[in-house]
Amino acid sequence: MIIGASYAGVQAGISAREKGYQAPIRIVADEIHLPYQRPPLSKAFLSGGVAHGNLILRGDDYFKAQNIEMMLGHRAIRIDRAANHVELESGQHLAYDALLIATGSRARQLAVPGAEHAGIVYLRTLDHAMNLKPKLEAAREVVIIGGGFIGLEVAATAAKAGKKVVIIEAASRLLERAVSPLISEFLRDAHLAHGVDIRFNRSVTAIENSGPLHEVICSNGDRARGDLILAGIGGMPNDELASAAGVICANGIDVDEFGQSSVPNIYAAGDCSNHHNLFAGRRVRLESVQNATDQGKAAGAAIAGKPEPYIAVPRFWSDQYDYKLQIVGLSAPDDLAVVRGAIAEGKFSVFYYRGAKLMAVDSINRPGDQMIARRFIAASLSPTPEQAADVAFDLKRLEAVA
Ligand code: FAD
Repeated sequence: MIIGASYAGVQAGISAREKGYQAPIRIVADEIHLPYQRPPLSKAFLSGGVAHGNLILRGDDYFKAQNIEMMLGHRAIRIDRAANHVELESGQHLAYDALLIATGSRARQLAVPGAEHAGIVYLRTLDHAMNLKPKLEAAREVVIIGGGFIGLEVAATAAKAGKKVVIIEAASRLLERAVSPLISEFLRDAHLAHGVDIRFNRSVTAIENSGPLHEVICSNGDRARGDLILAGIGGMPNDELASAAGVICANGIDVDEFGQSSVPNIYAAGDCSNHHNLFAGRRVRLESVQNATDQGKAAGAAIAGKPEPYIAVPRFWSDQYDYKLQIVGLSAPDDLAVVRGAIAEGKFSVFYYRGAKLMAVDSINRPGDQMIARRFIAASLSPTPEQAADVAFDLKRLEAVA
């Protein structure tokens, strides 16, 4: 039994079948939609470039052909470990031999006076996006609380549509925990060039709502007015079902490289879990399609009795204006950052080093660097910082030598 029908849950079901798992597979999901792609919700779907129908990951026929039973619109509310069953909100009890928790994450809610108003919106699900899209089209002034990936992508979509956009960010730069100052500054400049007003070092203390207008009040007394307010202040793991059942959790469900939790027949994968990542050298909870898919794959294989460890190099991407940011590996704030390419031309990569070891590469419109960096990081191969900085140096030569 699988709880959650998104990247991790669906992939686990598919991989279990691929590995020869014969027993019934049932996926229980609280959303009513067939599994869909989430990244376009803040990008092409919001700007009108992709319709709902084109977001579907797998259709009904696929699940039927795989003999996977989909129970959409059903919320799991309790795991009974002693009885090996899951209780649904509908009152049904479903038995399992092995259980995969793939419940993902949810948007962190803004906890300040006035934030409970229906005009303050979040973006996590297709329903959220369908609610946001017409509101964004009708809006004139948009305030985005949080300069993270989702906030910045919505800001870019709104600015391109001619809206007046204000971003309020608590830190002193954009994407502080994910990228180096070089990338933060590049993206800041891209937003400024599109007329976005970015206000750093401000936390929101209240929202005043009057009719269709909202005023966001900041700690320094600053105010930002909008007819649409989006809060993009991070995600929280949906790990409560697991922790209530006594499964060990610490910012997500603790799993090993096979997706196994602290309980032998309970697995977890994707945004709701945390694992020791080989490339980071520490436990991390990642929110990315790659992580959810690859962890789902590992959990499905383990459930089928053909375990294969999760050892994929972490990857992520974000689209803002004409820029594609791609990230491979996991960098840390103290890593040495080396630039390859031309920042002024909007085509460059940042190579991150810990000592002599290449840890991660962030690229803006340089997909070739990403392909090679992924192979380097997977193979623990590191060009020297001088080689990385020299665009005339063909990095592929190093692979040939190795
Ligand atoms: P989720 O996709 O979160 O799905 C979990 C599912 O479980 C949900 O449908 C949830 O409703 C359901 N569920 C939860 N609790 C229960 C319950 N008790 N009973 C039944 N069902 C339950 N990643 C990238 O790599 N690149 C991007 O560009 C990118 N852009 C993004 C843009 C947006 C707007 C969002 C929201 C996310 C984006 N991500 C991106 C992150 C990526 O989508 C997630 O990391 C990925 O969806 C995680 O997959 P998952 O299967 O772990 O969980």
